[in-house]
Formats: sequence, C-alpha cells, structure tokens
Amino acid sequence: LGAPSAPTCPGACSTSVAEGLTPEHSQVSGDKDIPAINQGLISETPESSFLVEGDIIRPSPFRLLSVTSNKWPKNIGGIVEVPFLLSSKYDEPSRQAILEAFAEFERSTCIRFVAYQGQRDFISILPMSGCFSGVGRSGGMQVVSLAPTCFQKGRGIVLHELMHVLGFWHEHARADRDRYIRVNWNEILPGF
Ligand SMILES: [Zn+2]
Repeated sequence: LGAPSAPTCPGACSTSVAEGLTPEHSQVSGDKDIPAINQGLISETPESSFLVEGDIIRPSPFRLLSVTSNKWPKNIGGIVEVPFLLSSKYDEPSRQAILEAFAEFERSTCIRFVAYQGQRDFISILPMSGCFSGVGRSGGMQVVSLAPTCFQKGRGIVLHELMHVLGFWHEHARADRDRYIRVNWNEILPGF
C-alpha cells in the first residue's frame, strides 16, 4: 500500500476498469461461490431481503433523494482514495488476501485503499455472516462483510465485493445488457 505513484488516473477511473477486474461470479465458481455462501441470508421472500442480487446491500430509498453522487471523489492528483478499517478478527491469511486485493486495484487503476484516519466516508471490512457490500460510496461508515468462507478460494470474492464498493453493479444488471445477451427468464431463481 504506499503512497500513490502515478500523478494521473490511468484511464480506469474515467470510463471502466481493466477487464481482469470485472466482477463475475464465474471467477469464484466452484464448490462455494457467493450465492451459495449467502444462501442463508436471503429470506423466503427475497423482495424483502436486505440484499439484492445476492450480495448487494439494498440501497436506502431515502438516500436516493438526499445525495447527488455516490462516487468516491477523485483528488486533484487524479487519485481516488477509499479509506478502510480492517477488523482485528481476521486471521493472517485472510488479512493478506484483503491487502493483496487492495494492491491488485492499485496496480491497474487510480484507486488507493488507505488506512482510515478519521475521514468522513470509509469502509469497515469485517467478518459478518456472508460476503456482501453496498454499491458505491454510501456516506459515513459502510460495512463490507467478508466472512471466513469468502476466503476459501483466494481473493476472488474480496475483489468482487470491492468492485461493488467502487460503484459497480453486476454485469447482468447493466442498462445495455440486452444488446449482448439473451436472458432465459424462466431459469432465474425467485428474487434474483
Ligand atoms: Zn456481487
């Protein structure tokens, strides 16, 4: 994690991030992917669950009226800082996975995850039940849950949830989705 090395944003923040950072569940598919891990968090009636699309904290309707931007601000040097708090409950391998995920963003984008030092808006990463995050900057402290099971297959899920923190929704929820894929609606589980 060190000081920002690049004075300008290498493209990634203006339009899109590097392809390798696209959050796709396929990256973490296998024995335990995010939907499987979070299954117990999705209630019988997914419409009332606190999560949408399996791992995204449902945006508050009040928030939509009260803020104009949920982007993390870019400073004059073109760097976007995201302050973080890391729970002391993590064991060393999990901690390392998170720090490596931070470093991976730093390698290809202008994003810098920086240790929390009293900033107004920040993320608090802690092992609650399941793997989930809000999308974008929520204002104040925002929780990113990464339970021990979220680390079973390396840092893929960590990267996925951090993409949500940065403001990315799932690819299948993009406005221009239908120009690229055909949705088999009858194959979708209720609530998803
Ligand atoms: Zn997700």
